[in-house]
Amino acid sequence: AVADLNIIAVEAVLEPDGRYLPRVPGLPDDAFEHDGQITKREIRALTLARLAPAPGELLWDVGAGSGSVAIEWLRTHAHARAIAIEPRPERAERIRRNAARLGVPHLRVVDGRAPRDLAALPRPDAIFVGGGVSAPGVLEACWTALHADSNEDHDRDDGGGRGRWDRRRLVVNAVTLESETVLAEWYARCGGELVRLAVSRASPVGGFTGWRPAMPVTQWTVWP
Ligand code: SAH
Repeated sequence: AVADLNIIAVEAVLEPDGRYLPRVPGLPDDAFEHDGQITKREIRALTLARLAPAPGELLWDVGAGSGSVAIEWLRTHAHARAIAIEPRPERAERIRRNAARLGVPHLRVVDGRAPRDLAALPRPDAIFVGGGVSAPGVLEACWTALHADSNEDHDRDDGGGRGRWDRRRLVVNAVTLESETVLAEWYARCGGELVRLAVSRASPVGGFTGWRPAMPVTQWTVWP
């Protein structure tokens, strides 16, 4: 069994061109097919650290875009599970291609929109919201899903309470003023941790080199 796992691991980290793609999150952006709507490498690594995947856990990646967050979640553990929710059909198809190419074809992709299409899904252990943050009812629906008592995999106390190992969590990234405002309200009401991430990349400026800042990302993590 150990030998089998090694074979799977080697197959999953080699791209067709032979480039080595480690299982540590923060793969290069160009490891994914994308249309510019992708959580950039450094922010993605910090997002996965916040999501803190454990074996067997189920992630909802709401507004999955290229699928990069769900795909990196799945790559961390052989038994991880994830559902990507993405309303734009061409992006949903792109997610399927990325998942197949990066060794996680078991990623479930839902062509759907939050909050409408979340209720039908199996209860998650962790939710990442990378899109639709300012749409009415999205964070409410995520909050409710994490509170539901039907998570089949949880080690719970008697009486249907929440188990000792329960670490259900919600991580939300926002780049627009509108979505940041929503996060500020939720943070004031529900607590958690609110962090602002700013990344700059050195690039050519004339014959010299200068810092090009990416849009700062506001990241809210809460344990409902
Ligand atoms: N984390 C992604 C990028 C997300 S971009 C990645 O790394 O690739 C935000 C995405 O949210 C877009 O693809 C957009 O189509 C989607 N989106 C916007 N509103 C949404 C909603 N209400 N429900 C689900 N997805 C939504």
